[in-house]
Amino acid sequence: MNLTELVQQAGFSAGYLLPVPQYEEWTRRRASGAFAPEADWIEGDPAAAWPWANGLLLLIWPYAPYAPDTGLSGYYPASHQSYHAMMGLKKALEAVGVRAERAAVPVKSLLVAWGLAACLDSDMLYMPGIGTRFVIQALMVALPEDELTFTPKQAPFQACIHCKRCQRACPGGAISPQGYDWRKCLRAYEDGPQMPAWVMERMTCLLGCEVCQDVCPLNHFIQPRPVTEEEKAAFDLGRLIAGDIKPALALIGKNMKKGGKLTAQAAVLAANQNRTDLLPLLEEQAAQTDGPLKDTLLWAIFKLQHN
Ligand code: SF4
Ligand code: SF4
Repeated sequence: MNLTELVQQAGFSAGYLLPVPQYEEWTRRRASGAFAPEADWIEGDPAAAWPWANGLLLLIWPYAPYAPDTGLSGYYPASHQSYHAMMGLKKALEAVGVRAERAAVPVKSLLVAWGLAACLDSDMLYMPGIGTRFVIQALMVALPEDELTFTPKQAPFQACIHCKRCQRACPGGAISPQGYDWRKCLRAYEDGPQMPAWVMERMTCLLGCEVCQDVCPLNHFIQPRPVTEEEKAAFDLGRLIAGDIKPALALIGKNMKKGGKLTAQAAVLAANQNRTDLLPLLEEQAAQTDGPLKDTLLWAIFKLQHN
């Protein structure tokens, strides 16, 4: 078995093999509220969660963003692709007798601790030659002893040039000289059918917020990629508002369905882009909808009527 070859065949640009990590300090920080709720799914004690494992494989999947004026985040399609690549790699490892399981570990913090990435003022992770546009997947593995060659730990490094462009551009004011505050980051509020009004007012993008990464000079060498016809059709705002989200889910994964989240975000973007042509559709949908999603649709209608 050649682990590097399997990692590359799966489509990852790199795979870093680390010993099964311990991260008590990270777990303590989580308990004190340092991280957004998305960190809740991470296992606090990896040795107890995966007692059979002897290594952690961190997998890197770089991607190109869409151009800023498309209103689309390239992260989720890339995340979906990398998830499937990771599951393919898991199967390939199992086919050669290596047990492998998806690992819920603090991948960002581990990459930084291993000197493989640097955390920027925007809280984005930077890797040399890649910038901040990459997805990290992780597998716990039980490798034969002769395959257990760990990636050497390197000295932590700094990459941020503290130019403050992200700080000035951030629509939520989440980046300040005091650091990054997830409570002011739009992405922390976009996981359901309802969002606070200040988040809706500031949304420029479907699925996430790209502003700090778009303005960061450390990403300027990455060429945006065009939106394909399939993506254009799948992420059409009218289609999403009408609830036809299947083609979009095929590109970003079924777990993005979450109680009308896509429809809600499409409605908000339609309002923020002043898409008055979508007003009748929004009204029609609001009349048929109950619950928190209805409130979001009504917010979009109100905004379009009063722009
Ligand atoms: S925009 Fe400037 S300050 Fe912000 S993360 Fe990038 S380099 Fe650092
Ligand atoms: S993702 Fe958006 S809201 Fe969050 S820190 Fe970056 S620019 Fe600010």
